Amino acid sequence: MSGNESRLQAIYQITNRETTPVEQTESLKDIWACDVFNLATMEESLSKNAYKAIKKTVQTGVELDKSTADIVAAAMKDWAMSKGVKFFSHIFYPLTHATAEKHDGFIITNSEGNAITEFTGSLLIKGEPDGSSFPNGSIRMTNAARGYTAWDPTSPVYIQHTDNGATLMIPCVFMSWTGEALDKKIPLLRSNDAMNKAGRRVLSLMGEKDIATLNSSCGAEQEYFLIDSNFANSRPDLLLTGRTLFGAPSAKGQEFDDHYFGAIPARVQIYMQDVEDQLYKLGIPAKTHHNEVAPGQFEIAPYFEAANVAADHQQLLMTILKGTAKKHGFVCLLHEKPFAGINGSGKHVNWSVGNSTQGNLLDPGKTPHDNLNFLLFCGAVIRGVHKFGPLLRSVIASAGNDHRLGANEAPPAILSVYLGAQLEKVFDDIKEGKLTASEHGGEMDLGLDQILNFKRDPGDRNRTSPFAFTGNRFEFRAVGSAQSVSGPLVAMNTMLADSLNWIADKLETELKANDQTSAVINVLQELINQHGNAVFGGDGYSSDWHEAAVKERGLKNIPTTADALPALQEDSVKALFKSTGVLTPAELESRYEVYSEQYILAIEVEAKLVIDMAKTMIYPAATRYLSDISMANAGLSEMGIDMDNSVAQTVAGETAAMMAGVAKLSAALEKEDFASIDDHTQYFANEIRSLMDEVRSHADTLEAEVADELWPLAKYHEMLFIK
Ligand code: ADP
Ligand code: MG
Repeated sequence: MSGNESRLQAIYQITNRETTPVEQTESLKDIWACDVFNLATMEESLSKNAYKAIKKTVQTGVELDKSTADIVAAAMKDWAMSKGVKFFSHIFYPLTHATAEKHDGFIITNSEGNAITEFTGSLLIKGEPDGSSFPNGSIRMTNAARGYTAWDPTSPVYIQHTDNGATLMIPCVFMSWTGEALDKKIPLLRSNDAMNKAGRRVLSLMGEKDIATLNSSCGAEQEYFLIDSNFANSRPDLLLTGRTLFGAPSAKGQEFDDHYFGAIPARVQIYMQDVEDQLYKLGIPAKTHHNEVAPGQFEIAPYFEAANVAADHQQLLMTILKGTAKKHGFVCLLHEKPFAGINGSGKHVNWSVGNSTQGNLLDPGKTPHDNLNFLLFCGAVIRGVHKFGPLLRSVIASAGNDHRLGANEAPPAILSVYLGAQLEKVFDDIKEGKLTASEHGGEMDLGLDQILNFKRDPGDRNRTSPFAFTGNRFEFRAVGSAQSVSGPLVAMNTMLADSLNWIADKLETELKANDQTSAVINVLQELINQHGNAVFGGDGYSSDWHEAAVKERGLKNIPTTADALPALQEDSVKALFKSTGVLTPAELESRYEVYSEQYILAIEVEAKLVIDMAKTMIYPAATRYLSDISMANAGLSEMGIDMDNSVAQTVAGETAAMMAGVAKLSAALEKEDFASIDDHTQYFANEIRSLMDEVRSHADTLEAEVADELWPLAKYHEMLFIK
């Protein structure tokens, strides 16, 4: 058997793949939100009073009384059972980036042994999963391992179908017996609350009378790779870690930019439509999809929604992307860097805050200098990014995202904020204590008769900024593709709450002595003098910026997760979360511990696999090739032909070096005594990762030397280009 049998099998299978039968898609009107128990469904099935009560809860978050909960639960059960549902599940969002669910039947038996169904308000509201194995840092000792899930009525209940059944899914928060948050939803809800309170303070100081509840919104653009499952299954690294731990670059990569926004391959288009139909049924507004920069890379972006709902929908979207890929013979890779040398995947988190009375507070309107509310909210964001840059970096830190941030394709690991020329000018003026007319974008004339002229956006786009103002929202572009959007949303809402409170305190004093416009200018002038260093409109990829940001502006360049996570232990960050009520010091500490542990585990699994694959796949291929060429050379030499031995020497040398690297890596993994968690994460970030890189570099050189027919791992060009 030749060494590359699984590779050849994979190529054979793909070439002879039978096309998946395509189901005729139904019209949007028929399927939109058909599996969601949303307000519209509730209005149909509840009494007027019960509907009014639940609507108020959904829209403003006020508590629901017990008897209404019973009525809602009964209606929910009837609706679900009419759609073939037999089970329900509290779905929650633990500190992993995944979701967790525990399923229960509606069924109970009565004293006569008959099966009846039951679903009360209390079953809807509270669940108790055996949560002891979810990560919790040191919050729960094993003797206090109880965890509770509780219904979050502000995120709609929905039905999840499989081929032979259906389950009613109930979005929940997850907490410990002592009431501490063990999940990503509780802090998100709290951060929204904190932002609402602080925002209302500012708006009422600005003379607004009618102020509806403020909510944050999120629209997340998700990038991903699709690889044929035959290839993915043949590579243990893709299977277990979601990225290639080995692989020489393909002769053709993304240099031609011929994939970006190109025609979507038919097989992928069919997959995308399938994904979107499922999203529509769940009321998730999938809006755009296109090819991304790297070959095999794509993007999907739903229309923005309330942050809490968007975060739940984002988790569901990732589940559906992965599940549907299987059905179509793909594996969907959400990892931030599946392939070295070509672009990785991110998740741009578009974020704004607003309400039904003042509208989107990050929308400047046509003349930003007039819009004082906007300037205050925008200033609050600038202050937040400057003051809490390291926190923003820590909430996007993961072993996967480390491969992407700071590389020349993704936002730098330095947090700055891009405003665009128009706004930057407004804030420059404020620095000098004045507000003048804004520069307009002007009309863009393409000089083509058939293309209508359109109004140019007042600010250009800056792809190199990690945090950019994009017209009526901020776009946090450094978030990793596999991450939950909750962490970033919590950090943004909380830093905004803190800044708005600071602004409100200042405004209170200023308004005593000044008119409104002067008061706002004074507050913003102080703000921008202290925090303007975070505003940067230039090229974030350039080495000049990397130097200037740190040396001249005092910003931090935070390259790895090990460097980023300690921000969660800084006093200023503890004070931020405590004063806003978003996370207690114990909850924050537990997050620091859990994320550190996840980081170490992720790299440990990779390192073990590097050793395993080098020893059992690459070493055998290299030595077999070496013995083939030695035999051939010996034969030729008997015939009096002396062959150049350089290939054999390279292969022998690289193989020996790779195995020496494997030995060092194995020994390094034995280390157990670490002075602190920081010491431990730093060891993995530096020692272990560089030894893994060392093994890889020899293996990748071997890939370019060893006979193709012996090479055991699917190659980059095969995985990226064979569809
Ligand atoms: P681009 O790739 O040009 O940044 P996309 O259309 O792919 O734009 O994605 C932009 C995302 O931003 C979408 O999810 C969109 O719904 C979302 N979005 C638009 N306006 C807002 C807003 N005010 N607040 C939050 N998200 C928004
Ligand atoms: Mg974008």
